[in-house]
Amino acid sequence: MSTPQYKRIVLKLSGEALAGEQGFGLSPEIIKSVAEQVKEVVELGVEVAVVVGGGNIWRGKVGSEMGMDRATADYMGMLATVMNSLALQDSLEKAGIETRVQTSIEMRQVAEPYIRRKAIRHLEKKRVVIFAAGTGNPYFSTDTTAALRAAEIEADVILMAKNNVDGVYSADPKMDKTAVKYDVLTFIEVIQQGLQVMDSTASTLCMDNDIALVVFSIMEKGNIKKAVLGETIGTVVRRNS
Ligand code: UDP
Repeated sequence: MSTPQYKRIVLKLSGEALAGEQGFGLSPEIIKSVAEQVKEVVELGVEVAVVVGGGNIWRGKVGSEMGMDRATADYMGMLATVMNSLALQDSLEKAGIETRVQTSIEMRQVAEPYIRRKAIRHLEKKRVVIFAAGTGNPYFSTDTTAALRAAEIEADVILMAKNNVDGVYSADPKMDKTAVKYDVLTFIEVIQQGLQVMDSTASTLCMDNDIALVVFSIMEKGNIKKAVLGETIGTVVRRNS
């Protein structure tokens, strides 16, 4: 049997990845497929925490461009991540996986509050922990949340699942035919070259805390398992080359 390369992972799912082709809302097929892929790695004995985005429902930046107060718009974005988290929880539980949703904004009727030590305990019991409501602070992203939570729970890696791309490219491969895919990068290269991986706050947090990142496509079934087994998929981003 193949041996997982990581003991504890943070899986970052963007909201868009849950929307599928339509680009907004939730795709039941995609959520089911993600749940099945997560189940595969849980069955390998890997501890899985998930950070879910909200861009398929609402982005704070869009609201502020419409003239809304930025912080209010960002809180709406954080609430969107809670909806996605509940949808994923439902799907995982239907697949027979025990889960807990922990939110950074308290809503006790809906989910547990985020308590680091409790999250670690759930993980040790092989429950999938879904971190909802981002960091709980406006002006941040769920990429930064993934970096922060990965540092807090001492995860071995962040697996960043993308729906529209299978790694990091020198330019947008859909717009530029000469774009090349990178196998390995450092966070400094990502920041200096302005590569579209994650925002700079998230990148520096990963860099400073030596958290590795694997960027890959979620659209190919079995990819989360491949990434966990250390197979070469997508792009690996590290502190040092
Ligand atoms: N957000 C926030 N603070 C956080 C995380 C998220 O204010 O710590 C808000 C922000 O408005 C963001 C929205 O929630 O636009 C959705 O998150 P994100 O854009 O990271 O989702 P994704 O792009 O991964 O779907």
